Amino acid sequence: DYVESCMQIVKKALESSSGAVRSKATELAITLYEIVGDLQLMSSYLSDLKTPAVRDSLLAAFESIQLDPRQSRNPLPSGAVGSVGGIRQLGGAGPSGEEMLQLSPPLGSMEVEPRTCQFCGRHDPSFDEETMDLHFWKDCPMLMPCDQCGQVVEVAALAEHLVTECDQSQDFRYPPPLGVAADFTGCPLCGEPLPGDPAACKDHIMHRCGGNPRRVVPA
Ligand SMILES: [Zn+2]
Ligand SMILES: [Zn+2]
Ligand SMILES: [Zn+2]
Repeated sequence: DYVESCMQIVKKALESSSGAVRSKATELAITLYEIVGDLQLMSSYLSDLKTPAVRDSLLAAFESIQLDPRQSRNPLPSGAVGSVGGIRQLGGAGPSGEEMLQLSPPLGSMEVEPRTCQFCGRHDPSFDEETMDLHFWKDCPMLMPCDQCGQVVEVAALAEHLVTECDQSQDFRYPPPLGVAADFTGCPLCGEPLPGDPAACKDHIMHRCGGNPRRVVPA
C-alpha cells in the first residue's frame, strides 16, 4: 500500500552512506509515523534495515512521539469544558430568581414584628425598628447591658454570656459565680435562685427583682 511503498523509499534512504540523506529520511520516517500512528507496523517495516543504529534511534524517536496522539485528543476535553460553561450560564438564571423570592418575606415580617417586644411582651403601636432598638437598650426589663462589654443581653442569659461570648472590653468584672460558671441559675441581678418555670422566671426579673433597675412595678 501507500505507506509501505513510501517506507521502501525511506528505508533505502536510511541505508544511505550519506549522513544528510539519512537525516532527511529520518524526518520522513517520523512524519510517516505521525500519520500512521502505529509503532508496531513501523518497526516491522524497519526490522530488516541494514543500519541497526539508525533503526534503533528512529524507533526511540517514534516512542517519544507517542505523546502526539494524546495531544490530538485534547479538542475533546476542551469541547466538554465549553459545554460545562453553557450549563453555568443556564444556572445563572437560578440565583436571580432566588433573589426575587428573598425580597418578599422580610418586607412582610417587618410590618408585624416590631409592635411587640419578643423579650418582655410589651406591646406598643408606636414601636418600629428604631424605637424597638431603643427599648432594648434603655427600657426592656428582660434585658441589660453587660457591664463587662457593653453588649445588651438577656438578664437570664448573663451567666452564660460572660463565660461563652463576652469580650470583656470594659474594666468592670462581675463577682463570682458570674464569669466563672456558665450554668449558674441564680438571678445575676439580685443573686436569688431563679425559678425553673419560664413564666415565673420572667415574673421575677420583670416585676420582683430588687436588683433590676428596669423593674416594672405592677400598678
Ligand atoms: Zn422588652
Ligand atoms: Zn459581656
Ligand atoms: Zn433578681
